[in-house]
Amino acid sequence: MSKVLKFGGTSVGSAGNMRMVADIVVAEGAAVTVLSAMSGTTNALVDIAALASTDPGSGKIGGQLDMLVKKYSGCIGELLRDSKQKALTRLDETIKLIRDEAAGYKGPYSERLILAQGELLTSYIFTLYMNERGHKAQLLNAPDLIHKDGEEKVDMDFLESRLKGLIGDKDTFYITQGFICTDHRGEMDNLGRGGSDYSAALIGGAINASQVQVWTDIDGMHNNDPRFVENTYPIPRMSFDEAAELAYFGAKILHPATIQPCKDRGIPVFLKNTMDPQAEGTMISEQEDNSRTFHAVAAKDGITVIRIYSARMLMAYGFLRKVFEIFEQHRTPIDMITTSEVAVSLTIDSDCHLDAIVEDLKDLGKIEIEKNNTIVCLVGNLEHQQRGLAETIMRGINGVPLKMISYGASHRSIAMLVETRHKKEVLQSLNDSLFSAGC
Ligand code: ADP
Ligand code: ASP
Ligand code: MG
Repeated sequence: MSKVLKFGGTSVGSAGNMRMVADIVVAEGAAVTVLSAMSGTTNALVDIAALASTDPGSGKIGGQLDMLVKKYSGCIGELLRDSKQKALTRLDETIKLIRDEAAGYKGPYSERLILAQGELLTSYIFTLYMNERGHKAQLLNAPDLIHKDGEEKVDMDFLESRLKGLIGDKDTFYITQGFICTDHRGEMDNLGRGGSDYSAALIGGAINASQVQVWTDIDGMHNNDPRFVENTYPIPRMSFDEAAELAYFGAKILHPATIQPCKDRGIPVFLKNTMDPQAEGTMISEQEDNSRTFHAVAAKDGITVIRIYSARMLMAYGFLRKVFEIFEQHRTPIDMITTSEVAVSLTIDSDCHLDAIVEDLKDLGKIEIEKNNTIVCLVGNLEHQQRGLAETIMRGINGVPLKMISYGASHRSIAMLVETRHKKEVLQSLNDSLFSAGC
């Protein structure tokens, strides 16, 4: 029974919460524990790096560093006794490193080094605490384990062989950082915001864990986004595919890449609440739930629509291939696509290469761009032959203008595009009509 446990920023956000985390780690007999940075840290580090890139002398950098010193020294003071001085020395070194790196800012490398400091410091403090409590705990350096290649793919074989040699002792609690890794140049890198969930899934996959537990500040995956919608509820069980779809389409509780490494090896993922460990949470596994039609909704912001009008070419063979090739060249994935006789509309969630894409697409027809959209993704047991399904969903959105719809691509999900200003309204109205009624 080798379990990998991951704790997010709020879970390790104070001395009191770190004590609860230690209780859970011990009670569960965690083989590997993956920790995020204390809540608020990564946001502050992102601000510091942004300021350093434009104005390395900015006084605001000092303000953010003071905030971090206060937060971490407060936690260390409350949590540690014998190893307090060791932790405070490490805090000083970390602050100095961030200050120096900001002052001599060297672009993305400096940014990634600065961003890594939260996880490194938090995991160091927690490991000292576990040792003080009398447990055998050992800190592993995640960038020595998780290596990405030039295509951003993690080398699973390397991770597996590194961990084999490192985590042999059954009585030791191995602690490591989420989020951070090494890139193909051997430099510090990360897995993207919220990436600690993915770290845990990768490690779980590499050691063929019996389960991966993601401990956070809510009692599992809810049927709708609780930040925007009233009367949401936790879902006790869901399939890998549904969870992956919800994470991809914006359910912040899980980093979108988390499910794949666990699905590949059939490792169940449990979403649990650190503040209420007895709550059932959500179990994500191969098992499908066919008892209800509608299971959950998620929303993803920052979506750009690209419409290509081309009376001349659309119905011709090879037109869509040419369109797709342009997106491939610019390494930009497409989320939704709809076609008509004279136009094709696509959505993307990254505008990094938008100008270059539009330039290339101009050869194919007239191009229109619309920004500030949101994809609302409804997942469930959506058999399209079911009479009245489309009508029920349309009633559910209650008149909110729809810009695009992707229906019938799978039996599992339906994606709808709305302007972001309508997102809250459409999520709430879907909740009220499709979920409260127990459909
Ligand atoms: P952590 O810091 O533990 O990784 P996150 O903030 O990344 O936590 O994720 C947990 C948060 O995700 C919750 O507090 C909740 O506001 C938000 N969230 C968004 N959508 C959902 C959903 N469908 N179910 C549960 N939580 C969700
Ligand atoms: N600390 C990182 C972030 O805030 C990674 C994580 O929490 O998963 O994005
Ligand atoms: Mg998270």
